[in-house]
Amino acid sequence: MQWKSPEEWEKLKQGIDCPMCADIHLVENQFSFLLAELSQSYARLSKNQYHKGYTVVALKRHANELFELAPEELAGYWKDVAQVAKALYTVYQPAKINYLIYGHHIPHIHCHMLVHFFEEDPSKVVNLGEGEKYLATAEYQQKIAKIREQL
Ligand SMILES: [Zn+2]
Repeated sequence: MQWKSPEEWEKLKQGIDCPMCADIHLVENQFSFLLAELSQSYARLSKNQYHKGYTVVALKRHANELFELAPEELAGYWKDVAQVAKALYTVYQPAKINYLIYGHHIPHIHCHMLVHFFEEDPSKVVNLGEGEKYLATAEYQQKIAKIREQL
């Protein structure tokens, strides 16, 4: 896979045809289910649960870099991330929650939250596209309800 052209990338950075802006607020989109609308973000449970508990917290509005946010907005965003992390921690009882902010495919601020368990190798390189595991509808609903209870 190649980086987008500088022209395409510039458009995406401006939020033009940004796929996250288009569907990040929906109850369900191609990749995830809405867990909650928080003060600065939407928390979403990934449909691909190969990494158990994999959740994304995406900024409500389009911005590319953390330094573009006003101080209150930035603080609010991290507060949202921490709130979701606490909920995931309570539900999954993991060893650790990792926070990954990339954006090299879609430059719309979002934090991948990976829940790590004791039975995993802590030195293993994280690969979000490593595998696929999809749950039955009822299992998603159960997980979503449990996480929402903690938010
Ligand atoms: Zn966007």
